[in-house]
Amino acid sequence: MNNNDTVFALSTPVGGAITVMRITGPGAREVLSAVFSGKIAHRRVSFGRITDPNGDTVDAVNAVFFEAPHSYTGEDMAEIYCHGSYAVAARLSELLSDTGLAVPAEAGEFTRRAYLNGKLDLAEAEAVMDLISASAERSRRAAVSQLSGRLSAVVSSLYERVKLLTAELANAMDDDTGEVGLSADFPLRAKELFKDLTALSESGMRSRVLREGARIALIGSPNVGKSSLLNALLMRERAIVTPIPGTTRDTLEESVSLDGVPATLIDTAGLREPSDEVERIGVGRTLAELDGADLVIWLVDGSRETSPDDEEIFSRLGGRRVLAAITKSDLDAVVLPDEGGRFRGFPAVRTSSVSGDGLELLKKTAAAMLLPDEAEEPIITNSRHISALSGAADRVSASSDLLKRGDTDAAYFELREAMGLIASVIGADDPQEELIDSVFSNFCIGK
Ligand code: GDP
Repeated sequence: MNNNDTVFALSTPVGGAITVMRITGPGAREVLSAVFSGKIAHRRVSFGRITDPNGDTVDAVNAVFFEAPHSYTGEDMAEIYCHGSYAVAARLSELLSDTGLAVPAEAGEFTRRAYLNGKLDLAEAEAVMDLISASAERSRRAAVSQLSGRLSAVVSSLYERVKLLTAELANAMDDDTGEVGLSADFPLRAKELFKDLTALSESGMRSRVLREGARIALIGSPNVGKSSLLNALLMRERAIVTPIPGTTRDTLEESVSLDGVPATLIDTAGLREPSDEVERIGVGRTLAELDGADLVIWLVDGSRETSPDDEEIFSRLGGRRVLAAITKSDLDAVVLPDEGGRFRGFPAVRTSSVSGDGLELLKKTAAAMLLPDEAEEPIITNSRHISALSGAADRVSASSDLLKRGDTDAAYFELREAMGLIASVIGADDPQEELIDSVFSNFCIGK
């Protein structure tokens, strides 16, 4: 797409009360005036009609015009707020095309232009995309803070630090006295940089949960109340609850927001010896789910003695993040958490899917285990950023090792690579067209 083109796209899904059509590019004013009867002035919302070339009214709308560079894209830009019907949206698109002055926008085109015109840096542009797709409150907050430039500021300072080290090493290499004249604190600065890059990318891994949601496996022997708990947490009938052991054969998945943390709850078949083929498949899947889970909720029936099945499951929980739910708290208690609120070493909550007791506490505890509050730490959630920063950390560490062995050339090469990786997060140093394309192609049309 040529950036001199004027492009248009719907910026909202059709079907709500209002649909927004956006137009951006040098011809935005002309395109708007070709279809809209109202007054056009910078930042002024005006009422008017959309008419076709025969003068027939298509819709009565509000429209606003932004003069470059004072717009989202930094170009002349217009927004038309029409009534939310497919017929209107389709007819308006047709009219805009028919002017011969504008073409349909590609995915992410508006934000791409904002980036190219210096309105946003790459990290901020990706935050826009994350904001659009944020599925729960905490994800939204992380996207908003990234958008406000916090992440960009932190990454820029890391970039400056790696740049200084690289330049210093380059200078030392140019010096043909044969001595590598690096400042005494060079190794320390490289080590600190490695530490900061690692910390930032690790905070990202934790908060991957924010973007993609946590996977939570519900596991327990037959009839402990897995399906009932899942239903209670979802507040609707999803899994089939039966009093016959072994009837939850497949894994069921449902998305919920747990105290602001997006999560997928996975109801699993029991981990006992399979008695037939269907159940065998279910058990295999259960084991796989345990491995892929960010958190395991282990259900133990509080109304009866623990069974060999419970022991079998317990034996498989080592090394995992586990929250114990002692179920059926509305019945006489046979199994209870210890005085520290733990069961077999795991944090434990008593729940009842019948009375609803303990469900809120279970959710809160799960959320806190998944996402300890990260206070002022800048949150990085984009997986491309996470891998770029952890890659840069590896490069910096490799560079230090090479330098110790006296291989200055190779050490310099590693630092250059680290610099490129950090630059790719904020779009410094003119990142390749390819990279930009890959970022913006993830947008939807009209953003
Ligand atoms: P699953 O096999 O682990 O999925 O267990 P289900 O959810 O199907 O429940 C098994 C049986 O326990 C059913 O008869 C439920 O009605 C009963 N049940 C489940 N949760 C509770 C609870 O909190 N309190 C009581 N009293 N019964 C429960």
